[in-house]
Amino acid sequence: QKHVYSFGGKTADGNGKQKELLGGKGANLAEMCLIGIPVPPGFTITTEVCAAYYEAGKKIPEAAVPEIDAAVTKMEAVFGGKKFGDPADPLLVSVRSGAALSMPGMMNTILNLGLTDTSVEGLAKKTGNPRFAYDSFRRLIDMFGSTAMGCEHEDFEHEIHKLKEEKKVKLDTDLSADDLKELVKRYKAVYKKHVGEDFPNDPRKQLMLSINAVFNSWHGHKAVEYRRIERITGLKGTAVNVQAMVFGNMGESSGTGVAFTRDPNTGENVFYGDYLINAQGEDVVAGIRTPEPIAKLEEQMPKVYAQLVEIRQTLEKHFKDMQDIEFTVQDGVLYMLQTRNGKRTGTAAVKIAVDMVKEKLIDEATAVKRVNPDSLNHLLQPQLDPKSKIKPVAQGIAASPGGASGKIVLSAEAAVEHAAKHPGDPIMLVRKETSPEDVAGMHLARGILTSTGGKASHAAVVARGWGKPCVVGCEAVKIDEKAGVVVISGQTLKAGDFITINGTTGDVMIGKVETIAPSMTGDFSTLMTWADKSRKLKIRTNADSPADALKAREFGAEGIGLCRTEHMFFGEDRISAVREMILSTTEEGRKKALAKIEPYQKADFVGIFEAMDGFPVTIRLLDPPLHEFLPQKDNKAGAEAVAKQIGVTVEKIFERVEELHEMNPMMGFRGCRLPLVFPEIGDMQVRAIIEAAIEVKKKGKSVLPEIMIPLVGIVEELIILKKRAIAVAEEAMAKHGVKVEYQIGTMIELPRAALTADKIAEEAEFFSFGTNDLTQMTFGFSRDDIKGFMPTYLAHKILPVDPFQSIDVNGVGQLIEIGIQKGRKSRTEHHKQHLKVGICGEHGGDPDSVHFCHKVGMDYVSCSPFRVPIARLAAAQAAL
Ligand code: ADP
Ligand code: MG
Ligand code: MG
Repeated sequence: QKHVYSFGGKTADGNGKQKELLGGKGANLAEMCLIGIPVPPGFTITTEVCAAYYEAGKKIPEAAVPEIDAAVTKMEAVFGGKKFGDPADPLLVSVRSGAALSMPGMMNTILNLGLTDTSVEGLAKKTGNPRFAYDSFRRLIDMFGSTAMGCEHEDFEHEIHKLKEEKKVKLDTDLSADDLKELVKRYKAVYKKHVGEDFPNDPRKQLMLSINAVFNSWHGHKAVEYRRIERITGLKGTAVNVQAMVFGNMGESSGTGVAFTRDPNTGENVFYGDYLINAQGEDVVAGIRTPEPIAKLEEQMPKVYAQLVEIRQTLEKHFKDMQDIEFTVQDGVLYMLQTRNGKRTGTAAVKIAVDMVKEKLIDEATAVKRVNPDSLNHLLQPQLDPKSKIKPVAQGIAASPGGASGKIVLSAEAAVEHAAKHPGDPIMLVRKETSPEDVAGMHLARGILTSTGGKASHAAVVARGWGKPCVVGCEAVKIDEKAGVVVISGQTLKAGDFITINGTTGDVMIGKVETIAPSMTGDFSTLMTWADKSRKLKIRTNADSPADALKAREFGAEGIGLCRTEHMFFGEDRISAVREMILSTTEEGRKKALAKIEPYQKADFVGIFEAMDGFPVTIRLLDPPLHEFLPQKDNKAGAEAVAKQIGVTVEKIFERVEELHEMNPMMGFRGCRLPLVFPEIGDMQVRAIIEAAIEVKKKGKSVLPEIMIPLVGIVEELIILKKRAIAVAEEAMAKHGVKVEYQIGTMIELPRAALTADKIAEEAEFFSFGTNDLTQMTFGFSRDDIKGFMPTYLAHKILPVDPFQSIDVNGVGQLIEIGIQKGRKSRTEHHKQHLKVGICGEHGGDPDSVHFCHKVGMDYVSCSPFRVPIARLAAAQAAL
């Protein structure tokens, strides 16, 4: 087994396809060598070695060691014969991590490795540039110390700040060679204080310790957290790339930069990025100095710029996707250090995919496959209301589009705390810069605002990945974390005050700006048309109002999969009649109250049928327990108001609340159990549905109501209710002399329903899997009470994902498959028409769950209006 893969010159042992084995970075470094792009030589230690390292209790497998030594020798030869650790003319290397999937900033890179007390002198002499040599050395001590040996980067930073103050200079680049020599001394002291030993003067020891450190970072807190949030599982580990150093900090003809081959915010086909002259790697992304836009390189280094533009073309042609590149210029010579498919906003993803089809780089199916369905969220994000009168007070760099308003929090921890106390409350993370430690808090914020950093800073990259609005490098924002205040252009804001950002323009506003709903046009709509060509699943929506129904149709919904009638019961105009119905103890009394509700119900359905214009509409009969409609026991004022409204005493209300009280409402008197005990409730609803359908049909429109009976677990329940519903429907049609087509079906949301689906299918004309309840009932988890233990379950990998977010394929999924198989088989045996099957839980809008629904042969998925495009795309990808 080969442990180490060399690359360099125009050859490589590996290639771009071997991402699992070599990591993304290593595989693409090899690929770039193979297509003739200048890359400093080096080698990649495989992800398998990382796995073996952990298996052996954090030890590099012995067989790998001679391969590493041989690869060092090979690198030396390719790079012009300099020797690693040569005291007179040292070859230095970087040690870089890189797993199969890119995790920006998650793993630590160490630069300038191989420098020692003697070789730093050699380097100074050889290059005639002592400033550069000592700058490189102090960086090594910092990076090696903080990455491999657990020192604090801040402690080193503190020393450089102190020295700059002493020397009265502003920039790192203003420090002289002697200053840096002094700094090296101080850094070494910091190192020794923390590590308890001197900084190792042995290059090979530095190398081996660094390789260990990269492997260790795989299970570091940050990396684990990132994988958890991004749901990344099943990787072997990280690879380690050891690569000959090239130097961007050699003076004015050197520099370093990061760029995207197209704009990752908008997707526009323009070269986009930043660079810094006389700087090394991380300087550009760390937000220490404010970098220059890439276009300016054309003036500063025209030759290099021209070469870079050519490489941009070559890479896009070769990889057929937008690339995120890192480069360094050493003394006017350009080297590429990394390329990968660039992260982009949903907006950019769509534009790039559509553009690349036009440019004939890819075909339509590839375009459809390439856009992450969840990233469409970005195009479905609210935008700031353009009519808002609130004026911007500052402008930063537009790093991730969309508008957001939120209460200021000044740290990731504060964000986490606030969100725990006030779930759903909008917060805005305002910081100088962000780092991988902050991801949990960043995830919770509506938007992110930083005062430093460029387009490739941590905050920008992460926010774009999540489709969260973000503004970076807004220097007018002065943050005093200790005092808990932010000062913007002279105005002081406290933590908790509202602030607004526009990630599309970079504007920052004080206060709250209203947001408006997005729409589907242009490239977005083009991509959706392509998606529709391949998907097999129909996409419906969950909607209870004509407005939602219309929005969903605009997004391409082909019907309503779930119309929850209880939402209508809460309507201002009828809630008191609903309460009256619940409070009455006689059938007579209930019927009287229901008669008041009926016209409202009918009008609701008319509105929805008209909005759906002939598409099927599944209406679920009343589902929740009745006490949900009454004021709760601790709400005296509410009870008094209700009492007055409907003319009963407060005592009477509380008496009824007491009667209806349940230990476990989720498994209580709800669903089909309601109309079985109070048939008049079901009668009223069915009549309202059929009469609404008749009315719409009379207007010449087509209607397709599907009456859905919830929470059936025993076929007898359905037999009784169906018979009754048919009787009511027939009566209504006879009365009006109009026939409408309708279906009666059920939800499958109890394990028993799935297991007896053959029996149920003899009665039901359709199944809709209510996966929220089915998940609750299968796991025995109450969906509203998982807060206490779900985080632990996820952290300990007891569950890979929250089963309420993504279908539990192994458990709940089996019940679904059994339900579909038994149901369809029974229909065939009884020579009945095809059993229509869909899903209407929250899962209908989750791409992984949509894949599952496709696989098990459902006819449709139903999700909230704003997830319809996501489901359309996910369905297409499942079919491709
Ligand atoms: P990340 O995965 O965080 O992007 P990298 O391994 O790409 O980390 O390293 C960060 C930066 O360090 C690179 O962008 C590059 O500027 C610099 N760097 C890494 N290796 C070398 C090298 N061999 N020569 C010069 N600079 C390097
Ligand atoms: Mg990189
Ligand atoms: Mg349910």
